[in-house]
Amino acid sequence: VWGRVKNVCKQNGLLILSVLAVVIGCLLGFYLRGKQLSEQEVKYFQFPGELLMRMLKMLILPLVVSSLMSGLAALDAKCSSRLGIMTISYYLWTTFVAVVVGILMVYIIHPGGAAQKEDSDESKKPMTSSADALLDLIRNMFPANLVQATFQQRVPELIFKPTVAQLLDETTTRRVYVYGIQDDNGTDVQNFSLDLTPPPDVIMRTSPGTSEGMNVLGIVIFSATMGIMLGRMGPNGSALVNFCQSVNEAVLKIVAIVIWYFPFGIVFLVAGKMIEMDDPSAMGKKLGFYAMTVVMGLVLHGLFILPAMYFFITKKSPIVYIRGILQALLISLATSSSSATLPITFKCLLENNHIDRRIIRFVLPVGATINMDGTALYEAVAAIFIAQVNNYELDFGQIITISITATAASIGAAGIPQAGLVTMVIVLTSVGLPTDDITLIIAVDWALDRFRTMVNVMGDALATGIMAHICRKDFVKEGEQVPLICETQ
Ligand code: ASP
Repeated sequence: VWGRVKNVCKQNGLLILSVLAVVIGCLLGFYLRGKQLSEQEVKYFQFPGELLMRMLKMLILPLVVSSLMSGLAALDAKCSSRLGIMTISYYLWTTFVAVVVGILMVYIIHPGGAAQKEDSDESKKPMTSSADALLDLIRNMFPANLVQATFQQRVPELIFKPTVAQLLDETTTRRVYVYGIQDDNGTDVQNFSLDLTPPPDVIMRTSPGTSEGMNVLGIVIFSATMGIMLGRMGPNGSALVNFCQSVNEAVLKIVAIVIWYFPFGIVFLVAGKMIEMDDPSAMGKKLGFYAMTVVMGLVLHGLFILPAMYFFITKKSPIVYIRGILQALLISLATSSSSATLPITFKCLLENNHIDRRIIRFVLPVGATINMDGTALYEAVAAIFIAQVNNYELDFGQIITISITATAASIGAAGIPQAGLVTMVIVLTSVGLPTDDITLIIAVDWALDRFRTMVNVMGDALATGIMAHICRKDFVKEGEQVPLICETQ
Protein backbone atom coordinates (compact mmCIF):
# COMPACT_ATOMS: atom_id res chain seq x y z
CA VAL A 1 0.00 0.00 0.00
CA TRP A 2 2.80 2.35 0.95
CA GLY A 3 4.42 1.70 -2.38
CA ARG A 4 1.20 2.59 -4.19
CA VAL A 5 0.77 5.79 -2.18
CA LYS A 6 4.35 6.73 -2.98
CA ASN A 7 3.73 6.08 -6.63
CA VAL A 8 0.59 8.21 -6.71
CA CYS A 9 2.40 11.03 -4.91
CA LYS A 10 5.28 10.82 -7.32
CA GLN A 11 3.04 10.96 -10.37
CA ASN A 12 0.69 13.64 -9.04
CA GLY A 13 3.05 15.48 -6.71
CA LEU A 14 2.48 18.87 -8.18
CA LEU A 15 -1.26 18.46 -8.28
CA ILE A 16 -1.38 17.36 -4.65
CA LEU A 17 0.80 20.30 -3.68
CA SER A 18 -1.49 22.68 -5.56
CA VAL A 19 -4.61 21.32 -3.83
CA LEU A 20 -2.86 21.65 -0.48
CA ALA A 21 -1.87 25.19 -1.42
CA VAL A 22 -5.52 26.17 -2.04
CA VAL A 23 -6.54 24.70 1.32
CA ILE A 24 -3.64 26.32 3.18
CA GLY A 25 -4.35 29.62 1.40
CA CYS A 26 -8.00 29.54 2.55
CA LEU A 27 -7.08 28.71 6.14
CA LEU A 28 -4.32 31.29 6.28
CA GLY A 29 -6.58 33.92 4.74
CA PHE A 30 -9.35 33.31 7.26
CA TYR A 31 -6.85 33.39 10.11
CA LEU A 32 -5.32 36.67 8.93
CA ARG A 33 -8.71 38.31 8.43
CA GLY A 34 -9.01 38.58 12.17
CA LYS A 35 -5.60 40.22 12.45
CA GLN A 36 -6.58 43.63 11.04
CA LEU A 37 -3.56 43.95 8.76
CA SER A 38 -2.86 47.38 7.35
CA GLU A 39 -3.30 48.01 3.64
CA GLN A 40 0.46 48.04 3.21
CA GLU A 41 0.90 44.74 5.03
CA VAL A 42 -1.80 43.12 2.90
CA LYS A 43 0.01 44.36 -0.21
CA TYR A 44 3.31 42.83 0.90
CA PHE A 45 1.55 39.63 1.80
CA GLN A 46 -0.01 39.41 -1.65
CA PHE A 47 3.30 39.93 -3.41
CA PRO A 48 4.23 36.25 -4.08
CA GLY A 49 0.74 35.72 -5.56
CA GLU A 50 1.13 38.80 -7.71
CA LEU A 51 4.39 37.34 -9.03
CA LEU A 52 2.59 34.15 -10.04
CA MET A 53 0.04 36.15 -12.02
CA ARG A 54 2.77 38.13 -13.70
CA MET A 55 4.70 35.02 -14.72
CA LEU A 56 1.61 33.49 -16.26
CA LYS A 57 0.62 36.67 -18.06
CA MET A 58 4.16 37.01 -19.38
CA LEU A 59 3.71 33.77 -21.31
CA ILE A 60 0.35 34.57 -22.90
CA LEU A 61 1.51 36.70 -25.81
CA PRO A 62 4.33 34.46 -27.10
CA LEU A 63 2.18 31.38 -26.59
CA VAL A 64 -0.91 32.68 -28.41
CA VAL A 65 0.97 34.17 -31.34
CA SER A 66 3.34 31.26 -31.85
CA SER A 67 0.61 28.63 -31.38
CA LEU A 68 -1.76 30.12 -33.89
CA MET A 69 0.83 30.98 -36.51
CA SER A 70 2.65 27.67 -36.43
CA GLY A 71 -0.50 25.65 -35.78
CA LEU A 72 -2.49 27.00 -38.70
CA ALA A 73 0.48 27.14 -41.05
CA ALA A 74 1.00 23.42 -40.49
CA LEU A 75 -2.49 22.57 -41.75
CA ASP A 76 -3.44 22.45 -45.37
CA ALA A 77 -6.20 24.79 -46.49
CA LYS A 78 -8.90 22.10 -46.42
CA CYS A 79 -7.97 20.93 -42.93
CA SER A 80 -7.71 24.39 -41.47
CA SER A 81 -11.03 25.54 -42.85
CA ARG A 82 -12.78 22.37 -41.65
CA LEU A 83 -11.18 22.63 -38.22
CA GLY A 84 -11.96 26.35 -38.07
CA ILE A 85 -15.62 25.95 -38.97
CA MET A 86 -16.12 22.97 -36.65
CA THR A 87 -14.39 24.69 -33.75
CA ILE A 88 -16.21 27.99 -34.02
CA SER A 89 -19.59 26.25 -34.50
CA TYR A 90 -18.97 24.01 -31.50
CA TYR A 91 -17.94 26.96 -29.36
CA LEU A 92 -21.03 28.94 -30.31
CA TRP A 93 -23.24 25.94 -29.66
CA THR A 94 -21.87 25.21 -26.16
CA THR A 95 -22.02 28.89 -25.24
CA PHE A 96 -25.63 29.01 -26.33
CA VAL A 97 -26.42 25.88 -24.29
CA ALA A 98 -24.75 27.52 -21.27
CA VAL A 99 -26.95 30.59 -21.68
CA VAL A 100 -30.08 28.44 -21.88
CA VAL A 101 -29.03 26.59 -18.72
CA GLY A 102 -28.52 29.93 -16.98
CA ILE A 103 -31.90 31.25 -18.07
CA LEU A 104 -33.69 28.08 -16.94
CA MET A 105 -31.96 28.14 -13.56
CA VAL A 106 -32.72 31.78 -12.89
CA TYR A 107 -36.39 31.28 -13.76
CA ILE A 108 -36.68 28.16 -11.63
CA ILE A 109 -34.89 29.54 -8.56
CA HIS A 110 -36.04 33.13 -9.03
CA PRO A 111 -33.33 34.65 -6.84
CA GLY A 112 -34.55 38.23 -7.38
CA GLY A 113 -37.77 37.18 -5.64
CA ALA A 114 -40.67 39.49 -5.20
CA ALA A 115 -38.15 42.12 -4.30
CA GLN A 116 -39.41 45.59 -3.67
CA LYS A 117 -37.09 48.28 -4.75
CA GLU A 118 -38.20 51.62 -3.46
CA ASP A 119 -38.54 53.17 -6.84
CA SER A 120 -38.68 51.75 -10.22
CA ASP A 121 -35.62 52.51 -12.22
CA GLU A 122 -37.35 53.45 -15.40
CA SER A 123 -35.89 56.91 -15.21
CA LYS A 124 -32.37 55.57 -15.40
CA LYS A 125 -31.28 55.48 -18.97
CA PRO A 126 -28.61 53.06 -20.11
CA MET A 127 -25.36 54.94 -20.35
CA THR A 128 -23.95 53.16 -23.34
CA SER A 129 -26.17 51.72 -26.01
CA SER A 130 -25.73 48.07 -26.82
CA ALA A 131 -25.05 49.01 -30.43
CA ASP A 132 -22.03 51.04 -29.28
CA ALA A 133 -20.89 48.18 -27.12
CA LEU A 134 -21.16 45.68 -29.96
CA LEU A 135 -19.35 48.03 -32.31
CA ASP A 136 -16.57 48.25 -29.75
CA LEU A 137 -16.32 44.50 -29.66
CA ILE A 138 -15.99 44.31 -33.43
CA ARG A 139 -13.53 47.20 -33.39
CA ASN A 140 -11.31 45.22 -31.07
CA MET A 141 -11.12 42.39 -33.56
CA PHE A 142 -9.13 44.67 -35.82
CA PRO A 143 -6.60 46.54 -33.73
CA ALA A 144 -5.41 49.62 -35.59
CA ASN A 145 -2.01 49.31 -33.98
CA LEU A 146 -0.82 45.78 -33.39
CA VAL A 147 2.00 46.75 -31.07
CA GLN A 148 -0.36 48.78 -28.96
CA ALA A 149 -2.76 45.83 -28.80
CA THR A 150 -0.12 43.91 -26.89
CA PHE A 151 0.19 46.59 -24.21
CA GLN A 152 -1.58 46.80 -20.96
CA GLN A 153 -4.78 48.68 -21.73
CA ARG A 154 -5.84 51.28 -19.25
CA VAL A 155 -9.42 51.11 -18.14
CA PRO A 156 -10.16 54.64 -17.04
CA GLU A 157 -13.87 54.15 -17.22
CA LEU A 158 -14.30 51.01 -15.21
CA ILE A 159 -15.86 52.44 -12.09
CA PHE A 160 -17.00 55.98 -11.55
CA LYS A 161 -17.86 57.84 -8.49
CA PRO A 162 -20.92 59.94 -9.18
CA THR A 163 -20.78 63.53 -8.12
CA VAL A 164 -23.93 64.10 -6.16
CA ALA A 165 -25.87 67.06 -4.94
CA GLN A 166 -29.22 67.03 -3.22
CA LEU A 167 -32.05 69.44 -3.91
CA LEU A 168 -35.43 69.83 -2.41
CA ASP A 169 -38.26 69.55 -4.86
CA GLU A 170 -40.37 72.53 -3.81
CA THR A 171 -43.65 71.23 -5.07
CA THR A 172 -43.56 67.84 -3.38
CA THR A 173 -40.93 68.51 -0.67
CA ARG A 174 -39.15 65.34 -1.72
CA ARG A 175 -35.43 65.09 -1.92
CA VAL A 176 -34.11 65.00 -5.44
CA TYR A 177 -30.65 63.86 -6.30
CA VAL A 178 -28.76 65.56 -9.03
CA TYR A 179 -25.79 63.68 -10.27
CA GLY A 180 -23.30 63.54 -13.05
CA ILE A 181 -20.48 61.18 -13.75
CA GLN A 182 -16.90 62.18 -14.31
CA ASP A 183 -13.88 60.19 -15.30
CA ASP A 184 -10.44 60.26 -13.64
CA ASN A 185 -9.60 63.57 -15.25
CA GLY A 186 -12.76 65.25 -14.08
CA THR A 187 -14.27 65.30 -17.56
CA ASP A 188 -18.03 64.81 -17.68
CA VAL A 189 -18.94 61.52 -19.23
CA GLN A 190 -22.60 61.74 -18.50
CA ASN A 191 -24.65 64.86 -18.22
CA PHE A 192 -26.42 65.60 -15.01
CA SER A 193 -29.49 63.59 -14.22
CA LEU A 194 -32.26 64.05 -11.75
CA ASP A 195 -33.43 61.16 -9.71
CA LEU A 196 -35.58 60.51 -6.68
CA THR A 197 -33.41 57.67 -5.43
CA PRO A 198 -29.81 58.24 -4.42
CA PRO A 199 -27.34 57.10 -7.04
CA PRO A 200 -25.17 54.13 -6.04
CA ASP A 201 -21.70 54.77 -4.62
CA VAL A 202 -20.06 53.62 -7.78
CA ILE A 203 -21.27 53.47 -11.34
CA MET A 204 -19.88 51.14 -13.92
CA ARG A 205 -19.31 52.51 -17.34
CA THR A 206 -16.94 50.83 -19.63
CA SER A 207 -16.37 49.74 -23.15
CA PRO A 208 -16.42 45.99 -23.55
CA GLY A 209 -13.64 44.13 -25.25
CA THR A 210 -10.96 46.37 -23.81
CA SER A 211 -9.82 45.49 -20.37
CA GLU A 212 -6.81 45.47 -18.21
CA GLY A 213 -4.49 43.25 -20.19
CA MET A 214 -3.94 43.11 -23.88
CA ASN A 215 -6.42 42.98 -26.70
CA VAL A 216 -6.19 39.22 -27.05
CA LEU A 217 -9.13 39.01 -29.45
CA GLY A 218 -7.37 41.29 -31.93
CA ILE A 219 -4.12 39.39 -31.56
CA VAL A 220 -5.87 36.04 -32.08
CA ILE A 221 -7.55 37.22 -35.27
CA PHE A 222 -4.31 38.62 -36.66
CA SER A 223 -2.19 35.59 -35.73
CA ALA A 224 -4.73 33.14 -37.12
CA THR A 225 -4.89 35.02 -40.42
CA MET A 226 -1.10 35.18 -40.59
CA GLY A 227 -0.90 31.44 -39.86
CA ILE A 228 -3.30 30.58 -42.69
CA MET A 229 -1.37 32.81 -45.11
CA LEU A 230 1.98 31.37 -44.07
CA GLY A 231 0.60 27.90 -44.73
CA ARG A 232 -0.46 28.95 -48.22
CA MET A 233 2.97 30.43 -48.97
CA GLY A 234 4.58 27.02 -48.79
CA PRO A 235 8.40 27.04 -48.63
CA ASN A 236 8.47 30.85 -48.73
CA GLY A 237 6.81 31.00 -45.35
CA SER A 238 8.77 28.24 -43.70
CA ALA A 239 11.38 30.50 -42.04
CA LEU A 240 8.71 32.25 -40.00
CA VAL A 241 6.83 29.03 -39.32
CA ASN A 242 9.98 27.38 -37.97
CA PHE A 243 10.65 30.42 -35.85
CA CYS A 244 7.14 30.25 -34.36
CA GLN A 245 7.48 26.54 -33.73
CA SER A 246 10.70 27.15 -31.81
CA VAL A 247 9.11 29.93 -29.78
CA ASN A 248 6.20 27.63 -28.99
CA GLU A 249 8.47 24.83 -27.78
CA ALA A 250 10.53 27.24 -25.72
CA VAL A 251 7.46 28.74 -24.03
CA LEU A 252 6.34 25.27 -23.00
CA LYS A 253 9.74 24.65 -21.50
CA ILE A 254 9.44 27.85 -19.50
CA VAL A 255 6.00 26.72 -18.32
CA ALA A 256 7.59 23.52 -17.04
CA ILE A 257 9.81 25.61 -14.78
CA VAL A 258 7.22 28.17 -13.72
CA ILE A 259 4.87 25.36 -12.74
CA TRP A 260 7.01 24.59 -9.70
CA TYR A 261 6.34 28.04 -8.32
CA PHE A 262 2.58 27.46 -8.41
CA PRO A 263 1.94 25.86 -5.05
CA PHE A 264 3.81 28.65 -3.30
CA GLY A 265 2.20 31.44 -5.34
CA ILE A 266 -1.27 29.95 -4.94
CA VAL A 267 -1.11 30.05 -1.13
CA PHE A 268 -0.60 33.81 -1.22
CA LEU A 269 -2.96 34.42 -4.10
CA VAL A 270 -5.83 32.67 -2.33
CA ALA A 271 -5.04 33.96 1.16
CA GLY A 272 -4.60 37.50 -0.15
CA LYS A 273 -8.07 37.41 -1.65
CA MET A 274 -9.61 35.95 1.51
CA ILE A 275 -8.20 38.79 3.57
CA GLU A 276 -9.72 41.38 1.28
CA MET A 277 -13.16 39.92 0.72
CA ASP A 278 -16.31 41.37 2.25
CA ASP A 279 -17.87 39.60 5.16
CA PRO A 280 -19.98 36.80 3.61
CA SER A 281 -22.51 36.99 6.45
CA ALA A 282 -23.30 40.56 5.40
CA MET A 283 -24.46 39.29 2.02
CA GLY A 284 -28.19 39.81 1.56
CA LYS A 285 -30.50 36.85 1.13
CA LYS A 286 -31.26 37.69 -2.47
CA LEU A 287 -27.60 38.02 -3.34
CA GLY A 288 -26.99 34.64 -1.69
CA PHE A 289 -29.70 33.05 -3.83
CA TYR A 290 -28.28 34.73 -6.89
CA ALA A 291 -24.80 33.34 -6.16
CA MET A 292 -26.32 29.91 -5.56
CA THR A 293 -28.16 30.07 -8.89
CA VAL A 294 -24.96 30.88 -10.77
CA VAL A 295 -23.00 28.15 -9.01
CA MET A 296 -25.69 25.53 -9.62
CA GLY A 297 -25.86 26.47 -13.29
CA LEU A 298 -22.08 26.25 -13.57
CA VAL A 299 -22.02 22.85 -11.88
CA LEU A 300 -24.75 21.55 -14.18
CA HIS A 301 -23.03 22.83 -17.29
CA GLY A 302 -19.42 22.11 -16.33
CA LEU A 303 -19.80 18.78 -14.59
CA PHE A 304 -22.67 17.21 -16.51
CA ILE A 305 -23.51 18.79 -19.85
CA LEU A 306 -20.02 19.42 -21.24
CA PRO A 307 -18.61 16.03 -20.13
CA ALA A 308 -21.73 14.33 -21.54
CA MET A 309 -21.14 16.03 -24.90
CA TYR A 310 -17.53 14.84 -24.80
CA PHE A 311 -18.65 11.32 -24.03
CA PHE A 312 -21.30 11.17 -26.76
CA ILE A 313 -18.98 12.50 -29.41
CA THR A 314 -15.75 10.69 -28.56
CA LYS A 315 -17.10 7.64 -26.68
CA LYS A 316 -14.23 8.14 -24.27
CA SER A 317 -14.28 8.67 -20.55
CA PRO A 318 -14.62 12.36 -19.63
CA ILE A 319 -13.41 11.52 -16.13
CA VAL A 320 -10.04 10.34 -17.42
CA TYR A 321 -9.87 13.42 -19.62
CA ILE A 322 -10.77 15.85 -16.84
CA ARG A 323 -8.23 14.19 -14.53
CA GLY A 324 -5.60 15.20 -17.05
CA ILE A 325 -6.52 18.87 -16.82
CA LEU A 326 -6.99 19.11 -13.04
CA GLN A 327 -3.87 21.19 -12.66
CA ALA A 328 -5.22 23.75 -15.12
CA LEU A 329 -8.59 23.83 -13.37
CA LEU A 330 -6.90 24.55 -10.06
CA ILE A 331 -4.90 27.35 -11.57
CA SER A 332 -8.04 28.86 -13.07
CA LEU A 333 -9.69 28.71 -9.65
CA ALA A 334 -6.72 30.47 -8.09
CA THR A 335 -6.15 33.09 -10.77
CA SER A 336 -9.68 33.77 -12.15
CA SER A 337 -8.09 34.14 -15.54
CA SER A 338 -8.45 31.75 -18.45
CA SER A 339 -5.72 33.56 -20.36
CA ALA A 340 -3.27 33.18 -17.49
CA THR A 341 -4.23 29.50 -17.28
CA LEU A 342 -3.68 28.97 -21.00
CA PRO A 343 -0.02 27.85 -20.79
CA ILE A 344 -0.93 25.24 -18.18
CA THR A 345 -3.96 23.97 -20.08
CA PHE A 346 -1.72 23.63 -23.11
CA LYS A 347 0.82 21.60 -21.18
CA CYS A 348 -1.82 19.38 -19.56
CA LEU A 349 -3.49 18.56 -22.87
CA LEU A 350 -0.19 17.83 -24.53
CA GLU A 351 1.45 15.81 -21.79
CA ASN A 352 -1.40 14.25 -19.83
CA ASN A 353 -4.10 13.86 -22.47
CA HIS A 354 -1.76 13.39 -25.44
CA ILE A 355 -3.71 15.53 -27.85
CA ASP A 356 -2.10 16.35 -31.18
CA ARG A 357 -0.30 19.65 -30.81
CA ARG A 358 -1.52 20.87 -34.19
CA ILE A 359 -5.08 20.78 -32.85
CA ILE A 360 -4.18 22.31 -29.49
CA ARG A 361 -2.36 25.18 -31.13
CA PHE A 362 -5.48 26.31 -32.89
CA VAL A 363 -8.42 25.21 -30.76
CA LEU A 364 -7.10 26.23 -27.35
CA PRO A 365 -6.00 29.87 -27.83
CA VAL A 366 -9.14 30.58 -29.84
CA GLY A 367 -11.22 28.97 -27.08
CA ALA A 368 -9.48 30.88 -24.31
CA THR A 369 -10.37 34.07 -26.13
CA ILE A 370 -13.88 33.55 -27.42
CA ASN A 371 -15.32 30.48 -25.72
CA MET A 372 -16.52 31.35 -22.24
CA ASP A 373 -19.46 29.17 -21.31
CA GLY A 374 -19.22 30.03 -17.64
CA THR A 375 -19.20 33.74 -18.36
CA ALA A 376 -22.15 33.52 -20.76
CA LEU A 377 -24.19 31.56 -18.22
CA TYR A 378 -23.41 34.04 -15.50
CA GLU A 379 -24.25 37.04 -17.71
CA ALA A 380 -27.68 35.66 -18.49
CA VAL A 381 -28.40 34.85 -14.83
CA ALA A 382 -27.14 38.24 -13.64
CA ALA A 383 -29.16 40.20 -16.20
CA ILE A 384 -32.39 38.38 -15.38
CA PHE A 385 -31.65 38.66 -11.65
CA ILE A 386 -31.32 42.43 -12.05
CA ALA A 387 -34.61 42.47 -13.94
CA GLN A 388 -36.26 40.48 -11.14
CA VAL A 389 -34.92 42.81 -8.47
CA ASN A 390 -36.35 45.74 -10.43
CA ASN A 391 -39.70 43.97 -10.88
CA TYR A 392 -39.15 44.27 -14.59
CA GLU A 393 -41.13 41.73 -16.61
CA LEU A 394 -39.09 40.43 -19.51
CA ASP A 395 -41.05 39.26 -22.52
CA PHE A 396 -40.01 36.37 -24.72
CA GLY A 397 -38.31 38.63 -27.26
CA GLN A 398 -36.23 40.21 -24.52
CA ILE A 399 -35.17 36.80 -23.26
CA ILE A 400 -34.01 35.91 -26.75
CA THR A 401 -32.16 39.23 -26.86
CA ILE A 402 -30.50 38.39 -23.54
CA SER A 403 -29.40 34.99 -24.84
CA ILE A 404 -27.88 36.51 -27.97
CA THR A 405 -26.20 39.40 -26.21
CA ALA A 406 -24.92 37.19 -23.36
CA THR A 407 -23.25 35.02 -26.00
CA ALA A 408 -21.74 38.11 -27.64
CA ALA A 409 -20.69 39.56 -24.29
CA SER A 410 -18.89 36.36 -23.34
CA ILE A 411 -17.05 36.41 -26.67
CA GLY A 412 -16.02 40.00 -26.01
CA ALA A 413 -14.89 39.33 -22.45
CA ALA A 414 -11.14 39.06 -22.08
CA GLY A 415 -9.80 36.05 -20.19
CA ILE A 416 -8.90 38.11 -17.15
CA PRO A 417 -10.45 38.48 -13.70
CA GLN A 418 -13.97 39.94 -13.70
CA ALA A 419 -14.00 40.80 -17.37
CA GLY A 420 -17.51 39.37 -17.56
CA LEU A 421 -18.78 41.98 -15.14
CA VAL A 422 -17.54 44.63 -17.53
CA THR A 423 -19.06 43.21 -20.71
CA MET A 424 -22.39 42.79 -18.96
CA VAL A 425 -23.16 46.35 -20.01
CA ILE A 426 -23.99 44.89 -23.44
CA VAL A 427 -26.60 42.54 -22.02
CA LEU A 428 -28.22 45.04 -19.69
CA THR A 429 -28.48 47.83 -22.20
CA SER A 430 -29.90 45.53 -24.85
CA VAL A 431 -33.10 45.13 -22.82
CA GLY A 432 -33.07 48.56 -21.22
CA LEU A 433 -32.02 47.50 -17.73
CA PRO A 434 -30.11 50.02 -15.63
CA THR A 435 -26.38 49.44 -15.95
CA ASP A 436 -25.82 50.99 -12.52
CA ASP A 437 -27.41 47.89 -11.03
CA ILE A 438 -24.25 45.99 -11.84
CA THR A 439 -23.22 47.33 -8.46
CA LEU A 440 -25.82 45.03 -6.88
CA ILE A 441 -23.80 41.97 -7.74
CA ILE A 442 -20.26 43.29 -7.34
CA ALA A 443 -19.94 41.99 -3.78
CA VAL A 444 -20.02 38.33 -4.81
CA ASP A 445 -18.48 38.65 -8.22
CA TRP A 446 -14.90 37.85 -7.27
CA ALA A 447 -16.00 34.44 -5.97
CA LEU A 448 -18.32 33.61 -8.87
CA ASP A 449 -15.57 34.68 -11.25
CA ARG A 450 -13.37 31.83 -10.02
CA PHE A 451 -16.01 29.21 -10.70
CA ARG A 452 -17.02 30.56 -14.09
CA THR A 453 -13.36 30.73 -15.13
CA MET A 454 -13.02 27.04 -14.24
CA VAL A 455 -15.97 26.23 -16.49
CA ASN A 456 -14.46 28.39 -19.24
CA VAL A 457 -11.20 26.47 -19.07
CA MET A 458 -13.00 23.13 -18.88
CA GLY A 459 -15.05 24.06 -21.97
CA ASP A 460 -11.93 24.87 -24.00
CA ALA A 461 -10.11 21.74 -22.91
CA LEU A 462 -13.02 19.39 -23.65
CA ALA A 463 -13.56 21.11 -27.00
CA THR A 464 -9.93 20.45 -27.91
CA GLY A 465 -10.42 16.74 -27.18
CA ILE A 466 -13.62 16.68 -29.22
CA MET A 467 -12.01 18.45 -32.18
CA ALA A 468 -9.05 16.09 -32.06
CA HIS A 469 -11.50 13.22 -32.25
CA ILE A 470 -13.63 14.67 -35.04
CA CYS A 471 -10.69 15.70 -37.19
CA ARG A 472 -8.53 12.64 -36.52
CA LYS A 473 -8.91 11.36 -40.07
CA ASP A 474 -7.91 14.68 -41.61
CA PHE A 475 -4.79 14.80 -39.58
CA VAL A 476 -3.41 11.33 -39.96
CA LYS A 477 -1.32 11.71 -43.06
CA GLU A 478 -0.44 8.82 -45.28
CA GLY A 479 1.93 6.43 -43.58
CA GLU A 480 1.28 8.07 -40.24
CA GLN A 481 -0.25 5.61 -37.82
CA VAL A 482 -0.42 7.64 -34.66
CA PRO A 483 -3.96 8.33 -33.50
CA LEU A 484 -4.55 11.83 -32.24
CA ILE A 485 -5.68 10.93 -28.79
CA CYS A 486 -4.05 8.05 -27.02
CA GLU A 487 -5.29 7.36 -23.54
CA THR A 488 -2.01 5.77 -22.57
CA GLN A 489 1.38 7.17 -23.33
N1 ASP B 1 -12.44 35.64 -15.50
C1 ASP B 1 -13.06 35.04 -16.63
C2 ASP B 1 -12.00 34.33 -17.46
O1 ASP B 1 -10.85 34.68 -17.40
C3 ASP B 1 -13.80 36.01 -17.49
C4 ASP B 1 -14.98 36.53 -16.71
O2 ASP B 1 -16.05 35.90 -16.78
O3 ASP B 1 -14.88 37.52 -16.02
O4 ASP B 1 -12.31 33.42 -18.17
